[in-house]
Amino acid sequence: MAIEREVAGVRCSEVLAELSEYLDGELSEPRRNQLQAHLQGCEACERFGGQFADSIRQLRLGLKDAPAETSEVFERLRTRLQLQWDNPDAQ
Ligand SMILES: [Zn+2]
Repeated sequence: MAIEREVAGVRCSEVLAELSEYLDGELSEPRRNQLQAHLQGCEACERFGGQFADSIRQLRLGLKDAPAETSEVFERLRTRLQLQWDNPDAQ
């Protein structure tokens, strides 16, 4: 059973699907805020957070150019969440 959650009206898979656009600032502001609300309120996403939370904070601070490692963090998060969805019992 997948552990996908719906937080702030967005599902984890939707967040993941739009992560790169989110990072590139291509989303509308309301959508961007919605994804941020999800990321901040979603345990499933937060669990793998670590540096991810820092990245979000930096994005929220309005840094125009996120640190280079931010994309890697998102990539890792995405990979791990997908792995978890595929193998919910594996940790
Ligand atoms: Zn989530």
